Amino acid sequence: MIKKNKEGCCALCEKNTTLTFHHLIPKSNHKNKWFRKNFELKEMREKGIMVCRKCHSFIHKSHSEKELGKNLNSLEKLLEERQIKKYVDWAKKH
Ligand SMILES: [Zn+2]
Ligand SMILES: [Zn+2]
Repeated sequence: MIKKNKEGCCALCEKNTTLTFHHLIPKSNHKNKWFRKNFELKEMREKGIMVCRKCHSFIHKSHSEKELGKNLNSLEKLLEERQIKKYVDWAKKH
């Protein structure tokens, strides 16, 4: 399911801007056995957060899609991750 971009408040930096849908379990993992065993396909497709383009690209730059899907598959986990936390703190001030 493709979600259209929309205006709103970024789940990470909380800025009001154009948001994009981030799959908490990136699509490249959906065929992987480990993920198949641990999640329903529907869940993997729908599990996501709305974030601005900058936060989105930072998430993907700082972590591989496997790491994101396995270790950072919730908003809480993303916000607690050291590099992302640092980025978000910085982004909120700019
Ligand atoms: Zn953001
Ligand atoms: Zn993403």
